[in-house]
Amino acid sequence: MHYFTIEQRETLERQLAARAAELRAGFAADPETEDETAERERERRELAYVESSLQRLHEPEFGLCADCGEEIPYSRLQANPIAVRCLACQRVHEGAAER
Ligand SMILES: [Zn+2]
Repeated sequence: MHYFTIEQRETLERQLAARAAELRAGFAADPETEDETAERERERRELAYVESSLQRLHEPEFGLCADCGEEIPYSRLQANPIAVRCLACQRVHEGAAER
């Protein structure tokens, strides 16, 4: 059973594809300052997430939290289509990474 409708997946797909195009366009010029280099690093990581989300988008388990397996609310994915965890697990994950 698919958790999201085809229409919802296509909406997310458009969002992700637009973000990927935007990021790739930014990579045309080489970063010049340290800040730009750091920013570029973040953008490359984001692009990798965007690409993996695009690949997983049409799999049945897309939209299920990577940690607890609960459904990630569609509103959360609309705000952040590369989210792989529900908010509760994401907080735990970030807390664990920071400390
Ligand atoms: Zn979770």
